[in-house]
Amino acid sequence: MPIHKLSDELASQIAAGEVIERPASVVKELIENSIDAEATSIRINIHEAGKRLIEVQDDGSGIPRAEVQLAVSRFTTSKINDVKDLFNIATLGFRGEALASIASVSRMTLTSRAKGEEVGTSIIVDGGSVQGQKSSGVPEGTSVKVEQLFYNVPARLKFLKSDRTERKNIAELVNRYSLAYPSVQFILEIDQRSYLKTSGNGSRREILSSIWGLDVAKQMIEAYSEFEQMTIRGYISPISVTRSNRRGILFFVNGRPVQDYALTTAFIKAYHSMLMVGRYPIGVLFIRLPGEMVDVNVHPTKAEVRFRDRDQVFRNVGRTVRKALLANSPIPDIQEFKARNLWSGESESSASLLSGRTTADLFQGESGVFPEDRNSIISSYIQQGEQQRSLPYSGETILRLIGQIAATYLVAEGPDGLYLIDQHAAHERILYEKFMQQKEKSIPIQSLMKPETVELTPVEAELVEEQLSILKKIGFDIEIFGPNAFIIRGIPSLFRDMDPMRAVQVLIEDFEEDENPFENKIEEKIIGRICKSAAIKAGKVLSKEEQTALLHNLESCESPRTCPHGRPTMIHLSVDLLERQFGRKGAR
Ligand code: ADP
Ligand code: MG
Repeated sequence: MPIHKLSDELASQIAAGEVIERPASVVKELIENSIDAEATSIRINIHEAGKRLIEVQDDGSGIPRAEVQLAVSRFTTSKINDVKDLFNIATLGFRGEALASIASVSRMTLTSRAKGEEVGTSIIVDGGSVQGQKSSGVPEGTSVKVEQLFYNVPARLKFLKSDRTERKNIAELVNRYSLAYPSVQFILEIDQRSYLKTSGNGSRREILSSIWGLDVAKQMIEAYSEFEQMTIRGYISPISVTRSNRRGILFFVNGRPVQDYALTTAFIKAYHSMLMVGRYPIGVLFIRLPGEMVDVNVHPTKAEVRFRDRDQVFRNVGRTVRKALLANSPIPDIQEFKARNLWSGESESSASLLSGRTTADLFQGESGVFPEDRNSIISSYIQQGEQQRSLPYSGETILRLIGQIAATYLVAEGPDGLYLIDQHAAHERILYEKFMQQKEKSIPIQSLMKPETVELTPVEAELVEEQLSILKKIGFDIEIFGPNAFIIRGIPSLFRDMDPMRAVQVLIEDFEEDENPFENKIEEKIIGRICKSAAIKAGKVLSKEEQTALLHNLESCESPRTCPHGRPTMIHLSVDLLERQFGRKGAR
């Protein structure tokens, strides 16, 4: 084929591919235009997860009649003039290609009435070609209707994810903008269901709950720091709120949502050893800095930015998060600290990190003396433990229990040396195997004395709805209870000590968009995660009976050496190894 110039139509479609990947990208561009037009209210209406219709309506400045046709052409913008402007951008848009891109891969109707104009104008563009323009009696502002997205690029359609995932992407996106622009009212409806309605009264706290649910929103810690050239504000999670992935950490740079692995890492690092391995904090930070210190023209979707001084931004993010965390968890006085730390273990690592000392340091400083009320603390924990948990066991045993250390490990002697057992991992294994056995026959269900209702965000509710049949199948008596609400009436007896809410939480937190394995795999995963969530935690003091039961139940497992996720449940120090270590044996 000889070299030839691509037709305008094809060139636009290729370019559109960079900006418009999925329905959520359309929503993003249209919302950004509305924000740039200083709208105070933005309504978004979606049908069939955005494949059939995406409509965004605003009450912003509108587009003058004479410019309507220009607006939908490629590389036309009212936002920048020359290359200088590129390095000091005050608007979200500036590339002048969004409307043209959208129009080239859909049937788009743009209707707008500029401030001061008597009547509005409507223009229809079909697959990039303008079909006609007419007057239209509409209020001031702009409305863009995008129908049959990708109808002329079928390959794109095939790359879309499930409707649920596309809906989730849209909802998350709108949620984020609503949080960044709390003075703008956002109303989002997807397939006749209300996903978001903010008041536009400027309060961010209110909006937090639509992203993370009321419960978590209430616990979020406010963060604010001022530096020489930037301010950082936002909300971060206390150490008690975690997720299984990093996706709950959001950044905005000068009002623009930004994905940046390094920023996320700086955020996580601020929690240092306060969180368990594999758990991540959540939060949202708004970074403001002079326009010339950040280059936003890195990528067509404007989702990445380049900082002039990267390290400084990362340092400041870390400082902001740490400062907020510290302010939120004051250093407990020594007495209280030791008691909590040793006998519940709950916030052990946080407390030691915050005070900059380790548990061992603290003890040495106090000549190893326990607080006076030590015994009462122990006995109260033991009592609690006994009430809460009894693990019947049976059969002959090999391991001889010696005791528990650090409220986390059991120590036992076996025929060939010493065993250290991780109580959490061990219990997880036990629950898992018992549950799998029960599943073979029938799963005993325990009805709750008081059924529990759970209220979720629409995105979460959809996830739970999708997995509801699996939960039912594995013994959770749970039903839909109004929009976005569920009622739990019973749970598998094996998990009777577990907070029923946790079962639902497991579904929400740990299942992500790209997880789409075969049904039986999902079921297995859910069971594994529920067992993990129901198992005794590290840091819990166990009574002798509980320790013995745990040990012996573990022994009778088919695969006692690993937890269902493959972590070891025990470490074995053989007599041989001990002898070598003590220099009784082997070369010196
Ligand atoms: P950009 O936002 O990068 O300028 P777009 O293709 O998104 O490019 O939009 C082109 C132009 O159309 C904008 O510069 C703006 O002048 C106008 N425009 C688009 N959407 C709106 C809107 N909702 N309200 C007012 N003007 C708009
Ligand atoms: Mg734009």
